[in-house]
Amino acid sequence: MKQRTSHVVVLGGGLAGMLAATVLAEHADRVTVVERDDLAADPVARPGLPQHRHAHLLPSTGVRALEALLPGVVDALVGAGAHRIALPTDLLALTPSGWRRRFPGRRFALTCSRGLVDRQVRRRVFVEPAVELLDGVEVTGLLGDARRITGVRVRGGGSLRADLVVDATGRGANAPGWLAGIGAPAPEVEVVDRAVVCASRAFTAPASARSGFPAVTTALDPRTGAPGRASLLTPVEDGRWLVTLVGSDGVEPPSDGAGFAEFARALATPLVAELMAAAEPDGGVHLSRATANHRHRYERMSLAPVGFLVLGDALSAVDPVHAHGMASAARSALALRAELRAHGLTAGPQHRAQRVLARAARPAWTTATARDRLDPDPVTRVRRAVSRRLPATAALPGSAAGLAHPRVLSALLRGGPPDGGGAAPPFTAEERAAHPFLGARR
Ligand SMILES: Cc1cc2nc3c(=O)[nH]c(=O)nc-3n(C[C@H](O)[C@H](O)[C@H](O)COP(=O)(O)OP(=O)(O)OC[C@H]3O[C@@H](n4cnc5c(N)ncnc54)[C@H](O)[C@@H]3O)c2cc1C
Repeated sequence: MKQRTSHVVVLGGGLAGMLAATVLAEHADRVTVVERDDLAADPVARPGLPQHRHAHLLPSTGVRALEALLPGVVDALVGAGAHRIALPTDLLALTPSGWRRRFPGRRFALTCSRGLVDRQVRRRVFVEPAVELLDGVEVTGLLGDARRITGVRVRGGGSLRADLVVDATGRGANAPGWLAGIGAPAPEVEVVDRAVVCASRAFTAPASARSGFPAVTTALDPRTGAPGRASLLTPVEDGRWLVTLVGSDGVEPPSDGAGFAEFARALATPLVAELMAAAEPDGGVHLSRATANHRHRYERMSLAPVGFLVLGDALSAVDPVHAHGMASAARSALALRAELRAHGLTAGPQHRAQRVLARAARPAWTTATARDRLDPDPVTRVRRAVSRRLPATAALPGSAAGLAHPRVLSALLRGGPPDGGGAAPPFTAEERAAHPFLGARR
């Protein structure tokens, strides 16, 4: 029989922390999730989740991982107002080569506010008797020494003892400093920063468009490292749209309503500006500059203290433009589950589990940094060269294997795009008929 651990403390009650708690509860008598925010009112919006103001898209790989961890959660999300966007059918995407064609495909994404995902996950995680929530409590440091972590310190002078501490405090994680505070080594950090700035505003959609309206995106040009402008409009719950405008490499979307509209109008297509003009603003514009790709190489620490694991954005946070963070958190929790079911959770070294978590976060890191690197490695240079020959596709193949796709190869061999991008937004006749505000766009 596999050994059980008596008490695990998970730092951070965001997506990665809650999913980790679910997984760890299979192997521990008690899992305590310590969250700085007060969650008593089951909030969708809260200070510890500033990214809830920005458009979030959960791709099908993430949806499947989430459902595998918490069966029924996807139906609950859709029931609470999340939209299931079929890709590329329900996405109007303007790429550097024109509007992407819409056709039935197998991929899809869920769109809703970031906070709604957490709420539905939270409602499933904290019904598990072994998992308890300690909210309104801020972790301020680690207990232990360079050999073993034995718990955490919390604001106000208290502490919590644990056999295992799992850090899921997100992009702003302080663990490297906390480790230094107890005389433990800190991990190496890698940073790839394209200086992406996101500005977002919520809108009440026009009455006809509160359900069944496609998402709209204007992609950053992945073929240059030049300053860029992009946008994403996603339908979310309660008949609203979330519009995120993106600037990179020195371009910054404004944080006032008029400037926000103007920035949208100056994009490669004014479509998002026109859609916003047909909708009702719901609150102000919110800016985020916390977008750099950065990862901590905990798995490489030969002298890492026992009793400590890191996952989610605290381990590897990627540029949000690539929409990988939530899916990566879900896939990491799934990988941790497989690892612990195979090898158990012991009170001994966690190097092996940390390596599994690092591996699970790697695809998102590789894809995001390959696209963001201004001084690309050889593989990225090949991908960019291929992309110059590709038509209206917002995304390049995410892996070297993808380059071997017949469509990519045929584009290369023919020296031109396999299908052309359109010049006008490809709304269907039904959409134009259903939404009078599209009237001018025929
Ligand atoms: C502008 C923007 C757009 C994005 N768009 C997408 C998208 O479209 N698709 C996608 O998949 N991802 C997107 N992301 C990324 C996604 O939001 C993150 O990857 C995801 O939230 C990471 O989850 P996490 O649990 O690791 O961290 P978080 O969700 O940040 O959770 C960390 C938690 O830890 C708590 N905490 C922090 N410090 C302490 C402490 N000291 N003590 C106790 N608690 C603490 C916080 O309150 C918070 O609840 C976007 C991010 C941004 C900024």
